[in-house]
Amino acid sequence: MSAHRGVISLGSNLGDRLAHLQSAVDALAPCGLHPLVVSSVYETDPVGGPEQGAFLNAVALIATDLDPLEVLAICQDIEARNNRLREVHWGPRTLDLDIIAMDDLRVDDPILTLPHPRAAERAFVCIPWAEVDPDARLPEGLVRDLAEVLGDGGVHRRRDLSLTMTPAADGRIR
Ligand code: AMP
Repeated sequence: MSAHRGVISLGSNLGDRLAHLQSAVDALAPCGLHPLVVSSVYETDPVGGPEQGAFLNAVALIATDLDPLEVLAICQDIEARNNRLREVHWGPRTLDLDIIAMDDLRVDDPILTLPHPRAAERAFVCIPWAEVDPDARLPEGLVRDLAEVLGDGGVHRRRDLSLTMTPAADGRIR
């Protein structure tokens, strides 16, 4: 049984968006971030930043023995391997991975804040997270309540798209 449960938000708005999200999901387990469940895929209007295309977003719940800073390093490595383009701050990106939460940990490190400080105001995080964990909480409240208040304007479930998860070879959750 892994020591920690984590919540990772995935987003892409450049190139083959679904392929970038799938390649991130595929990269998790070999790096020690074992996906437990992956949400539906949502098409979402960009929030902030320059004029840019719509995102595909999803949320993955993971089990891991790694600590939060190790998880951040892995997420950044997976982003880099997907040729993330970072020329414009908050601009289009092939892949964006954010750690939304790990257990009930509060982390206030120069390079990592947990829970993610903007999670509660992002419908593209709260809606998919509430879908896969209806009891999830942030300091601001129940994630499903936050999702309801934020509303689903600009966030549309893409029933024609889905992400697949390869279960652990021995069928156990690590
Ligand atoms: P972004 O360009 O939006 O992906 O932001 C990445 C930067 O945010 C990195 O420099 C991280 O060190 C920092 N960061 C702080 N907290 C988090 C978090 N919870 N998840 C991911 N990145 C974070």
